[in-house]
Amino acid sequence: MEFSEKVKETAAKAGRTVNAWADCAAAHLDVLTLESSRDKLFAELGRLFYHDPSLTATDPRVVRLTAHLKEICAKIDAKKEAIASAKGKIPCSHCGRPLPADYAFCPHCGRPCEK
Ligand SMILES: [Zn+2]
Repeated sequence: MEFSEKVKETAAKAGRTVNAWADCAAAHLDVLTLESSRDKLFAELGRLFYHDPSLTATDPRVVRLTAHLKEICAKIDAKKEAIASAKGKIPCSHCGRPLPADYAFCPHCGRPCEK
């Protein structure tokens, strides 16, 4: 291989790595933004119950907030899963923590990894 081809190949490889890193950084930022929204919703829910202790889970405000919370938590989980899979990791089928694909047992929960 000629020197100029090697330079081109190395530059292309570096470009792909930078793009993957940028995608990953953007996904991490999305997760932080979503977690901030989730925390604000939890605080709002806490304030509702603090100001009205007789409030029940069927109150329309509580129903609306919990539905929004579920939606945001699902988005966070999906983003985290995408980040882990981009790093060559798969979520543990028991505890959900990201693990290298070749692990036989999860070091977090100790259970066998299902392939
Ligand atoms: Zn696990």
